[in-house]
Order: sequence, then structure tokens, then C-alpha cells
Amino acid sequence: MPVPQHLNLVGGEWVDGERRPNHNPARPGEVVSEYARADRDTARAAVAAARAAQPGWARRPVGDRMAILDRIGSAILSRVDDLAVLLAREEGKLLAEARGEVTRAGQTFRYYAHQLLQPQGEVYASTRENVHAEVRRRPLGVVGVITPWNYPLAIPAWKVAPALAYGNTVVLKPAELVPASAGELARIVAGAGTPPGVFNLVTGSGREVGEELLTSRDIDGISFTGGTGTGAHVARQCIAHGNKRFQLEMGGKNPLVVLDDADLEVAVRCALDGSFFSSGQRCTASSRLIVQAGIHDRFVEALATAADALRVGDPLDPGSDLGPVVSPDQLAQNLDYVRIGRDEGATVVAGGAHRADEGQFMRPTLFADARNDMRLAREEIFGPVSCVIRVDDLDEAIDVAGDTPYGLSAGIVTTSLAAAERFKRDARAGIVTVNLPTAGTELHLPFGGTGASNHGPREQGGYARDFYSVPVTCYTGW
Ligand code: NAD
Repeated sequence: MPVPQHLNLVGGEWVDGERRPNHNPARPGEVVSEYARADRDTARAAVAAARAAQPGWARRPVGDRMAILDRIGSAILSRVDDLAVLLAREEGKLLAEARGEVTRAGQTFRYYAHQLLQPQGEVYASTRENVHAEVRRRPLGVVGVITPWNYPLAIPAWKVAPALAYGNTVVLKPAELVPASAGELARIVAGAGTPPGVFNLVTGSGREVGEELLTSRDIDGISFTGGTGTGAHVARQCIAHGNKRFQLEMGGKNPLVVLDDADLEVAVRCALDGSFFSSGQRCTASSRLIVQAGIHDRFVEALATAADALRVGDPLDPGSDLGPVVSPDQLAQNLDYVRIGRDEGATVVAGGAHRADEGQFMRPTLFADARNDMRLAREEIFGPVSCVIRVDDLDEAIDVAGDTPYGLSAGIVTTSLAAAERFKRDARAGIVTVNLPTAGTELHLPFGGTGASNHGPREQGGYARDFYSVPVTCYTGW
């Protein structure tokens, strides 16, 4: 079978660059696709094309923009099978998860097509005589979209779709580990009749191509998802180069609290999913399990048994529960944290070992006897590694859960309505779950965190409009 080739999309033209192979993390010798690496000049040309196309796109009737977004969404949904296989082969998530992600991406484009029929402004009573007061919205302008590798299609979709819907043009820079999903998205967007320059793709390094977007005076805003360190750099650059608007979705160290009154089976299911599914490579993964003393031992034993029973294997094999980790670097980082956890005095109760012949497959690893001041409990690992911290009561659980620089998601497993309500009120996170895993969100609800996990308006749902459009207050005298 020929290896798919993906080029950059600049002003409606396919632009070549230095060719690079993209490898399958489950079978590192296997080339999934080949992509053309963009350089700074290509990025500059993409920004210029987006700038030139923006006024015309913003003036297109809403019906036209709706039709194009709807066609993009439908085209993605018509290709769930092949896009999911491609995504699973390039990122390593299970085929079933990849199918869910592709479906989500398609639905997201269709959702924003229809969001355009919602009210787009507000009318106020003026305090003055013969004055009409209203708030209208205009597009932000040209948006640079910088995305991570862990949701190669869904994250670009949930940024690109609202950006285009609200009249912006886009330059997308995906993570270099996952160029094929972004390349296919570009083909679909171009094939849906999107005018040249409205959507541009530049696949290249953060240091060169990403940096060009951050420093360009022709970009009005950056929507970024990635690590907290990179996000801080994005923020500094955006302020220094034209005071661009920016939105940052970053890392997490998400707690799942398990109280004595929890249903043990529900608690284990939530912890297993939140900690280990997708090989722990979700920003909403639960990597701190904060467990009350009365249920602690039973919970640790049941979770360790369940983690040991997970089958780690090829994402295309329906018998696998977990795929590989995404890259050799990520594997090395995960194993480093296993060593750090041991050195800090936590106890491995599941997994913890890795042989060279296992390649990028890593067994889910669970630590007991962790403390919240250990690096194991404070730093984002982004792998199938989780730790259990023992607490005495709900007050302590809420304190420990909130004692982190991050604040993306937080969950509790309890049968007490009062405890659940207190947790929803007091948990310091942008997403709170009760008797559900900390990961797993819906496209029509706002998504985002607090603290080191987020800066700027929420993504997804109707809230996305706050980033991709600018309110304009108009007073009309008559
Ligand atoms: P990363 O920060 O290394 O890279 C993210 C993107 O930024 C990539 O496209 C990268 O090329 C680009 N980049 C890197 N340096 C840059 C620079 N100097 N200028 C401009 N762009 C630059 O993150 P990653 O390893 O791809 O993804 C993992 C991280 O993403 C984790 O921390 C995870 O928690 C986070 N994440 C957060 C969310 C969320 O919504 N909060 C969702 C998914 C992933």
C-alpha cells in the first residue's frame, strides 16, 4: 500500500518541504505517512494568505459559512473508519477511542455551523434619550492554532471550527508527532469549498514554525494547547509581539477523591479509566487518587488487580485495553518518574517494570503510600502512572486535591449527596465530576481549567465565541 503523503496548505496551494517519515508507535519500524516539513518562509506565506482572505471570509453570508462547516463535518463523519485507523496508527490510541475522536471532530464542525443561528449580539436599554445601545461581535481576525499530539484531530477541530464559524481565518500548526491527521483534515477542509487562504496548514517545529506564528504582527490571536512551560512562553511572546489575544489550555495533575461511602466497583472503574486509559496521555487523566482511610486498602488492592489485568497491545487489536506510549522520549519520561516515585518512598503495587523488548508498550503503573508533596504527585507525567494518597476525611481530601499548581479536572466518588455538593462547590478545577472519571467531556459544554492549566476564555460549546470574536459596543443616536 502506498504511504500517504501530506503537504502544507498555503493560500489554497499544496506546498512541499523537507520530507519526513511519521512512525507508528506500536511498530516503530513502520512508516504511517510522510509529511512535508514547513519552514519559516512557508509559515510566513501562510500567515499572509490568511490575512488576505480574512475580510472576504468575514463578509460571506452566514449561510455560506454554515454550509462549508457542515460539509467539513459531514466529510469527516463519512470517513470515520479510515481516519480512525490512521489516527490509531500515528498516535497509538485504541481504534475504538480513535473512532470516538474522529466522530467528535466531525460533530464539532456541524455543531459550530448551527451555532451561527444563535443570537450573535445583545440589545440594552440606553440611559439616554433617543439612543440605541447594542453589543455586536466582530471576528478576532487571523488566528494561529497550535496543537499537541494527544488528540490529533479533535483538538484542531474544536479550535478551527469556531474560528472559521465566527469569521476568522486560520493557520494551523499541529504537533510534529501527528502530521497525518492534520494533513487529512486540511484535505477535507479544502475539498469542502473553503476559499483559498481561509484555512492554512503548516506542519513544522515549534521553535521555527510555531515561533513565526507567535511573533507575526499579522496574527491577531493564538489558541494553544500543550504543556504548561510552552504555554508560558506562548503568553510572553504574544504580549511582546503586538499584544495578541491568547488562549492557553495546558497540563494537569488531576485528583480523584474516593470516600469511605463510595461504591468500590464505581471507584475502581473511574480510577482505572481516568488513570490509565489512553495510556494516561490525557490532560484530564487522574494521576492523584486521594482515598479515605476506611476504604483505602480494599481500593488499592482492587485497583492494582484491575490494572494488572489490562491488556497492553496493538491499538488495532480489539483485545487491547491500552496502546503504546506515543514516543521514545515520552516512554523515557514515564520511566524516569517511576524511578523518582520509588526513590521518594512510594510503593509500586502494579506495573513498574519495563523491558527493552516491550518497545513503547508500558504497563499501567500504580503507586501506593504517596504523599502530595512528592514530585510523583506534583508534576505532570502524561503516562500510565498514578499514585494513591491516603487521607482521613472529606476536608483533608478537598485540601489535598486543591494543593496543586494545576486545576483542570477533579472528581469524587461518593454516595453522599452532601459530599458531592461540597466537592462541586470547593474543588479548585474547571471541570468537576461525581461518580465519573475525571476524563470524558462533551462538545457542547465549556472546557478548560484554572491555575497553571489554563489562561483565557473557555473552549468548546457556546463559550468558544468569547475567544474567537470581539464584542463591539455601539451607541446610535437618533
Ligand atoms: P508541547 O507544549 O510540547 O507542544 C504543544 C505544541 O506547541 C506543539 O505543536 C509544539 O510544536 C508547539 N510548540 C513547542 N514549542 C513552541 C514554541 N517555542 N513556539 C510555538 N509553538 C511551540 O505539548 P505536547 O507534548 O504536544 O502535548 C502534551 C501537553 O499538552 C501536556 O502537558 C498536556 O497536559 C497538554 N494538553 C492539554 C490539554 C488541555 O486542554 N488542557 C489537552 C491536551 C493536551
